[in-house]
Amino acid sequence: MTTLDMTIRAITNGEAPGDTCTPDLAKGPWEFDGVPGYGPGSSMFDVIPTGSPRQGGLPREYQDAPAEELRQRIVAAKQTLGDRLVVLGHFYQRDEVVEHADFLGDSFQLANAALTKPDAEYIVFCGVHFMAETADILARPEQKVILPNLAAGCSMADMADIDSVMAAWEELEAVYGTEPDAEGRVPIIPVTYMNSSAALKAFCGERGGIVCTSSNAKTVLEWAFERGQRVLFFPDQHLGRNTAKAMGVPTELMPMWNPRKALGGSTRQELMDAKVVLWHGFCSVHKRFTVGQIEQARAQHPGVRVIVHPECPMAVVDAADEAGSTDYIRRAVAGATEPTTFAIGTEINMVNRLAAEFPQHTIFCLDPVICPCSTMYRIHPGYLAWVLEELVAGRVVNSIEVDERVQSGARVALERMLAAKPRD
Ligand code: SF4
Repeated sequence: MTTLDMTIRAITNGEAPGDTCTPDLAKGPWEFDGVPGYGPGSSMFDVIPTGSPRQGGLPREYQDAPAEELRQRIVAAKQTLGDRLVVLGHFYQRDEVVEHADFLGDSFQLANAALTKPDAEYIVFCGVHFMAETADILARPEQKVILPNLAAGCSMADMADIDSVMAAWEELEAVYGTEPDAEGRVPIIPVTYMNSSAALKAFCGERGGIVCTSSNAKTVLEWAFERGQRVLFFPDQHLGRNTAKAMGVPTELMPMWNPRKALGGSTRQELMDAKVVLWHGFCSVHKRFTVGQIEQARAQHPGVRVIVHPECPMAVVDAADEAGSTDYIRRAVAGATEPTTFAIGTEINMVNRLAAEFPQHTIFCLDPVICPCSTMYRIHPGYLAWVLEELVAGRVVNSIEVDERVQSGARVALERMLAAKPRD
């Protein structure tokens, strides 16, 4: 199998057909440590907030080591650390990293996987910053959670910061007041997507709110509507809109909250009528998918089954045959009993891996341009080898530690999510 890294190098060297969104993808991620921005890939043009964690320089030996040497060093370090270590890999990670993962999954599955290894001293999370924070909140206090590259944030998560959300909440409380209605429902419930900072999860936990994932967003919204007249949903407008629309909420009752505008850019009446107030955030990976790509896939592959992630814009979800979380997409492909052509609207690493794993099907990414998630792409085997060899030497680098006060509020919101069971 040709890995995505090899494909990108071949395309940028002119040895293979295809397009990438930037030739910088062929460079090592260390070339972007210390440079403003998320690095090459889908979110390269998003604004990185000041104060976001930055990665110090990766030691030269890890930058220069050939791929096979890095692979062998990672395997050797893992063997030395044995049961003291668990390595978690997100579906969107590059193959050269995923091959070393003890568990592969989405952010929620991986948080749970960390819990199944309570004896491991070290949890090395090959994903992005908010995932490592969640693992630290759910892990035992003695366990260390390590993110191989601190610059692996998430541009969507960074679009809602605690100060902006606090300011929005104060404005909304001024509009709605705080008194419950005749049925005991409070004016508004905060709901944060898993893809958010621990501070925002704590914000929700402390205000009667909850966390959701792309797998359980409908269940969580039902939970929230039982307790509140409306919801403030952040950071991803698309997941909020797509989920609420599928539940029958009219889109005109879902105003967007732009933190740079007074009252988020809505009138007082629009906010009073609202059922879901959507934060002005999005995923730059899933924003790349378009209705035009779906039309092209249908024209070129009659009978194609189009499945997209609910972080895609509403028009794309409406034009697709199905929408669901990464776990849903995986189960849909795995469950197809007849050879099927799938056009998938999610991150390219996952799509390519599905194509390799299920050769009986034809599987391709809706977006013909190769443009992986910038921040997932920051985790390169060089960083993984470095953090593991540091652990072997008795040194913990890139540890993610959530403040204890933040942890307790965030844990409340996460536990509410775990207790909110689907009805069907
Ligand atoms: S794919 Fe989107 S939501 Fe996921 S880590 Fe990347 S930017 Fe964030």
